Amino acid sequence: MNDAAFARAQRSIPGGVNSPVRAFRSVGGTPRFMVSATGPYITDSEGVQYVDLVSAWGPALLGHAHPQVVEAVQAAAARGLSFGASTPAETELAELVKERVQASGVAPIEKLRMVSTGTEATMTAIRLARGATGRSLIVKFAGHYHGHSDGLLAEAGSGVATLALPGSAGVTPETAAQTIVVPYNDRSALREVFAERGQDIAAIIMEAASANMGVVPPAPGFNASVVKLAHEYGALVIIDEVLTGFRVSSAGWWGLDNRGLAAVAPGTEPVPGAEAWEAGNHAVANSTGAISIPVGVYQPDLFTFGKVIGGGMPLAALGGRAELMDLLAPTGPVYQAGTLSGNPVALAAGIETLRLADQDVYRRVDAAAAIVSEATSSALTEAGVAHTVQRAGNLFSFAFSEAAPTDYAAVLRQDAFRYPAFFHRMLDAGVSLPPSVYEAWFVSAAHDDEAIGRIVDALPAAARAAAAAIR
Ligand code: PLP
Repeated sequence: MNDAAFARAQRSIPGGVNSPVRAFRSVGGTPRFMVSATGPYITDSEGVQYVDLVSAWGPALLGHAHPQVVEAVQAAAARGLSFGASTPAETELAELVKERVQASGVAPIEKLRMVSTGTEATMTAIRLARGATGRSLIVKFAGHYHGHSDGLLAEAGSGVATLALPGSAGVTPETAAQTIVVPYNDRSALREVFAERGQDIAAIIMEAASANMGVVPPAPGFNASVVKLAHEYGALVIIDEVLTGFRVSSAGWWGLDNRGLAAVAPGTEPVPGAEAWEAGNHAVANSTGAISIPVGVYQPDLFTFGKVIGGGMPLAALGGRAELMDLLAPTGPVYQAGTLSGNPVALAAGIETLRLADQDVYRRVDAAAAIVSEATSSALTEAGVAHTVQRAGNLFSFAFSEAAPTDYAAVLRQDAFRYPAFFHRMLDAGVSLPPSVYEAWFVSAAHDDEAIGRIVDALPAAARAAAAAIR
């Protein structure tokens, strides 16, 4: 039935999918057509149930179809699917996000704008940064994925990496030239770019911890040094927490990465590589007057969220200081809008998910991630497969290489040919992994002993299949 469903889909939908990684191109075989999901399990059109380690690519933090989230969605749907007007729930979610980020010890989010996808959030953040600074250039890191807007596809991770594409056709050279791509975790390359073109750079956009080329965490102090450098040149920093936000901690990576704060707190040791910061603010001329950029503070300027914030429904957001966010229409000149922005049904899912995502949920997700990643690593070691476990909080993946990759070039040098065999053996044993070695594995708070036991039981044979794979 999966074969028939895929054949039928391919007649009406390009490649049979609505997002490229789903097509199984990098692992081969037929994608499973899913019909239902509950807790840690997902079931395909043939009635086969899998332990799910994709978790809808991140949103299913609580597990699939959590009864309280479903109830909230049903109640909201019964009141109306979409109003195209303001609702109290929008403010409620904005306040919830602000509280959680504030409670993490970093408080740069004063206002949020809700959109429907992570792509819209990052696209709007870029426009806002350009509008605020009056500058054109954007810096991104190779292997970081920020959705599919034209300017952000250069050397992007996720599906662009899976399909081994350098970028995308259809992006004009003029647009591509506005994005400078720098190797991740490479401070000197970043310094060189700023030394050459710093006065024209509107913003650096980066994943808080990269997880779209497999997981590659920032080197200690790297995020802090990016913020420091950008602010010295009057450029903004957009931290993309679409994937990490409300997943790796109750706030996100920035809530977890308080190490950076030690670099500026008086009397504390600087984090390795983050030099002492000069206190004070300076103003940067921009098209709308002037914005102040906090030079002495380890604070990014804009954050983007998606995935968990919508609890599985289409909802994402960008947020930051009021001074910046108020540059958006209708208070400011930077235009952004959406028929479905702040959709009431999506808001119900997001609000209920965040309400339920308490510290116990994060403890369970962290514990499940630790068990699954350690068991997988042990099975691979037992089978003699060279690998490294890549971790960023409870996000993890495996690189088939001796040394842990720290950038995109190293990620691409791994023995990726081992993954399809591993993936299919797990799938045949009832475990659904991401269909690409360049994606993170996602556990949820619903991954209980039984679900984890099924994963652990499937690992030895899959590891042996990876060991036997040939290039
Ligand atoms: N930013 C990051 C870090 C992501 O991981 C993704 C999606 O995976 C996006 C942006 C784009 O989000 P969406 O797929 O909702 O457009």
